Amino acid sequence: MLSRLRFRETPIDGESLLGFLWRVAARNCATLGTLHGTAGITYRTNSPTHHALERLADLTGVAVNVLDEMSCRTNAPSRTRRFGKHILPRRLVSWQRRRFCPGCIAESPHHRAIWDISLVSACPLHACRLVFQCDACGKSLEWLGDNLWTCRCGRDFTRIPAKSIAHADLVGTQVVYGMLDQPSFKAEVQELRVILPFADLDVGQGLDLLHSLAMTRPALAHWSVPGDEADENVHLALNEALEACRRWPTGMEAFLASAAQRFNDPVRIWVRALPSGVGEQVKSDLLECLATPENEQPKEAQTVSIKEAAPILGIPVARLQRAHNVCTFLSGKRMRGMTRAPLLRSLVFKLLSSTERLLTKLEASEILGVPPMTFEAIVQAGLVLDVTGKAPSSGTLYDSAEVHRFLDEVLERLIVNPALDRGQEVRLGSSTTQPALHGRRCIPVLRGILDGRLRCARVDEQAIGLHRIVLNAIETSRFIASES
Ligand SMILES: [Zn+2]
Ligand SMILES: [Zn+2]
Repeated sequence: MLSRLRFRETPIDGESLLGFLWRVAARNCATLGTLHGTAGITYRTNSPTHHALERLADLTGVAVNVLDEMSCRTNAPSRTRRFGKHILPRRLVSWQRRRFCPGCIAESPHHRAIWDISLVSACPLHACRLVFQCDACGKSLEWLGDNLWTCRCGRDFTRIPAKSIAHADLVGTQVVYGMLDQPSFKAEVQELRVILPFADLDVGQGLDLLHSLAMTRPALAHWSVPGDEADENVHLALNEALEACRRWPTGMEAFLASAAQRFNDPVRIWVRALPSGVGEQVKSDLLECLATPENEQPKEAQTVSIKEAAPILGIPVARLQRAHNVCTFLSGKRMRGMTRAPLLRSLVFKLLSSTERLLTKLEASEILGVPPMTFEAIVQAGLVLDVTGKAPSSGTLYDSAEVHRFLDEVLERLIVNPALDRGQEVRLGSSTTQPALHGRRCIPVLRGILDGRLRCARVDEQAIGLHRIVLNAIETSRFIASES
């Protein structure tokens, strides 16, 4: 386990929390995973709990309020994220997939928080596209591996050539930079701030409107979550959206008339989501532009197809098609074998708002560091609920927040007894050890850990998920025997 780190680093202006922690870890010959593990964080996040931030402050020697200001944490972490002094809707900030500007890292190799903004697909400082994936192996960039700027395939990211963009195509991105207080772009937004629609909206609401408008562009018809391939052209859609806003409200009519055929109208959803008393003029202008003659007015359907629902939920169509349990649940039918029934729009949106991200059994098992069979036993024992709150079957999906909640709970309740750290060791999910702790066999052990009756020998910070828990073989055998 790490104690206080030997080498200190100072956060750089505009640096993201994950990027800073990565830099600190690398300086101390550790990995981000080790640093996170020691702070009790089980997944890569810019929004750790306050408790975890306190531990990170201890480790890094940086004041907790400084780390807190770099983090995206708000009082409503499932709905909002913080960026500097602004509160933004959650969809505007995402660190699932890492992006970077080759020009920026050539100047200073630190990760800028602005690259986590979903509307940013280009760097207006260097007039080039952000890099989303490795140009050698095609993998998208993640917060994994030893080195921020080297791919796991060995490719040196600092050598990826920048794909340049004409300055005229960067107008929208410059405004986003300005709205989020990036130095040297403040002038771009001064005139916008005093005219509609932005005059009546705060920064988060204004950016969210731009996001909704960009989503209506045919090129981004399937864009729903940051990390989509369509991300690459967000700057172009943003330009069109901004141009329409500058000609408010007359320009908006033509803009919305050329919207892509999406069954869920992003602009209407935005209007509905804005609290009453906020931007009333903006709302009524938009609704007027959206209004079509009575006989042409499409009735908002109560149901949606799987193909329509998948992009809303941010998952591939094929995955949702295989998720029979979820489809049955979303169709509102109680019976099995009704997966061909259309899905209820209301349930799809309810699921969307309740979940961080949907995981397959395999993905959830990987987070917990156990084989799928062991994960299945954990679900069957009722320790982790699937999204439908039912027993698992083929194609069941899990809420990532629920999986992490379970893992955090187990790790939090862990009691370490160093006296047990000798002799044979066993870990949850392993089948070759004595006793074997795979499948259902791990359930009494997990329950013992959760209620504090079974202590562990040590915690292996390098391991993943439940695999971190190192148990003494003899002690565990005795415990299992006493339970049965
Ligand atoms: Zn740049
Ligand atoms: Zn690669």
